[in-house]
Amino acid sequence: MTTQILHDTLKENFGFEKFRPNQEDIINGVLSGQDTLAIMPTGGGKSICFQLPALLFPGITVVISPLIALMKDQVDSLKANGIEACFINSSQTEDERQFYIESLKNNTIKLVYIAPESLSFLDTIFNSLTISLIAIDEAHCISAWGHDFRPAYTNLGYLKNRFPSTPILALTATADKATRKDISDQLNLINPTIFIASFDRKNLSLEVRPALDRVKQIIDFIKEKPNESGIIYCLSRKTTEELAEKLQKVGVNAKAYHAGLDNKIRSTTQDQFINDDCQVVCATIAFGMGIDKSNVRWVIHYNLPKNIEGYYQEIGRAGRDGLPSETVLFESYGDMIQLQKFASQGLNAEVQLAKLERMKQYADALSCRRKILLSYFGELVTDNCGNCDICKNPPLFFDGTVIAQKALSAIIRLQEIEPLPVIIDFLRGSKNAYIYEKEYQHLKTYGVGADLSWFDWNQYLIQLINLGYCEIAFHQQNKIRLTAFAKKVLFEREKVQLTNVHKINVDKVELKEKKSKSTTNSLFENLRKLRYEISKEEEVPAYVIFSDAALRQMENERPMSDEELLAIDGVGKAKLEKYGDIFIKAIIDFQKAKLVTKKKEGTTYKETLELYNSGLSVGAIAEKRKLGLSTIMSHLAKLYLDGSAIDLNAFVSTEEVNEIAIAKQKLESPVALKPYFDYFEEKIDYGKIRLGLAILEKENTIS
Ligand code: ADP
Ligand code: ZN
Repeated sequence: MTTQILHDTLKENFGFEKFRPNQEDIINGVLSGQDTLAIMPTGGGKSICFQLPALLFPGITVVISPLIALMKDQVDSLKANGIEACFINSSQTEDERQFYIESLKNNTIKLVYIAPESLSFLDTIFNSLTISLIAIDEAHCISAWGHDFRPAYTNLGYLKNRFPSTPILALTATADKATRKDISDQLNLINPTIFIASFDRKNLSLEVRPALDRVKQIIDFIKEKPNESGIIYCLSRKTTEELAEKLQKVGVNAKAYHAGLDNKIRSTTQDQFINDDCQVVCATIAFGMGIDKSNVRWVIHYNLPKNIEGYYQEIGRAGRDGLPSETVLFESYGDMIQLQKFASQGLNAEVQLAKLERMKQYADALSCRRKILLSYFGELVTDNCGNCDICKNPPLFFDGTVIAQKALSAIIRLQEIEPLPVIIDFLRGSKNAYIYEKEYQHLKTYGVGADLSWFDWNQYLIQLINLGYCEIAFHQQNKIRLTAFAKKVLFEREKVQLTNVHKINVDKVELKEKKSKSTTNSLFENLRKLRYEISKEEEVPAYVIFSDAALRQMENERPMSDEELLAIDGVGKAKLEKYGDIFIKAIIDFQKAKLVTKKKEGTTYKETLELYNSGLSVGAIAEKRKLGLSTIMSHLAKLYLDGSAIDLNAFVSTEEVNEIAIAKQKLESPVALKPYFDYFEEKIDYGKIRLGLAILEKENTIS
């Protein structure tokens, strides 16, 4: 098959401009009749690998898929692209099933999705069908080595015997070698070509935060993005419910999801999430496997996950559309203790503990997190990623020897029998009941660390544990003990490097301001609403109509003709016909409305200028115009920059301008004003900062 045909098919039917890594090679192999095993990360784009060949083959493509919800979703997506597809499973009535079976016989359907348990429904007609390709999705379900073993999958080996000349394409996101071999053996694949795509998902940002004030942090996080879907993974069912309730109380559209809930409630929540009717799902790991939603914009781990495989799969549910998406993991000492306990009591304790340890090392990392993740999956990367918290905010080390000495002596004074919180209280000279009961206040070292906050001590002690100077005795009430290395610090003057965990960074504040601006009345928001309305009418998930990525591209490129719209990634022939007019109209309307606002803006500046020229004070102008002081200030700054004769020095002194200039340099010219405001510890107000910056900007353009 020529590259041109493949690309044309991709564009015309799926709307995509180019293949993602490996897709084209896999498709070529499949089309030539080759058995294939494709390993790609979640969101890597596996579906196209069988959906596109299905269109080029003369016969039917059978897709074995374990999840009923997912089948419906994929069939909806295919139909939205004008491709004839159906699914057959036990959720249908006999009549429905019969209808689709007839369509299969008449060869009017290109793809049929079927659960392995339901293959028997096809038994009677199998021989009369031309089957061109068999795709087995989530193929790791066949292997007891994998993590989602499904007994019905183990029968699939007979397919090769029954259709010896039909290529089989097995797909999975599970990379481990034992599972891989097992899949190939059990499916009787003949000399399969194996493709292993990179597991790097560059669009996912990675961040780990200390689990202090988690709920508040989460609320702040969500408030920044009121329209973005996200998942919060929690360890226990109880936490999912409590957290969802707390979020609801502050007005977040959140729901809980866990295996203990009624089936109906669960499927309603899942549907609402998929259809953008529920913004946030607080879930145990029971949630997500059957979800193809491409516009999940963020994933939070409220608790530390048990292992890196699970963590990666869970964060992988964000950003399938390839747009930047955020992931945040909260790390807590308490979680670690609990997980250690679970792991050591469960099956395969040694392996589970080792996996947990790797997870913890990831969370405690002081170098690029993506490198650590990818190396776990066997990929070696040389460059730092630039999209994890460590890359964005490299830790600054300082000489923490004295801190270490204080901490380690405290542990000795407490005879190595107390857990971390008691040690911190002791160091900080806390007067709580436990300390007094034990009469610790009389011991030496008590209170020597009163100058540091609880938060800081917590961080430093965890670093000391990670550096190997002390350890947690998990089987003995989590008391903290010294290791042999502690001696070096206490008696041999070994130096210890510690790092400060940044609590706030300027970057984030800026981003926040930029974002909140962009969420109000942007073209993207207009298009998103339009998409939502259509999705309700058509009863399909919104992302099936257009992905977030497609809407973003429309926002940036403002297509106003069929031709221009067709150039957007994700707009194929069928979608152009169905939605082209409405979306183009929405874009044109938006442009027009903007022109009107621009004009209005023009007059608003003019009004301010006239009042200013008439000699009114800023306060008087604000009052007269019923606008805020800061708005008037911003008008003046704009007018000044545009060349009007306005004496800004009447509002901000030369000294203040100088200070602002210094701040600008130190802060590396942030776009937003908030970093300045914080820098001056709120002593110079926003209005002055704005005007000061205008003066500096003008100086710059003149000099
Ligand atoms: P997986 O099954 O590997 O998790 P999917 O097949 O669901 O991934 O694809 C993930 C997302 O990427 C979907 O929204 C899909 O439409 C999109 N996608 C797949 N291939 C391409 C491509 N070549 N260009 C742009 N988007 C793509
Ligand atoms: Zn990085």
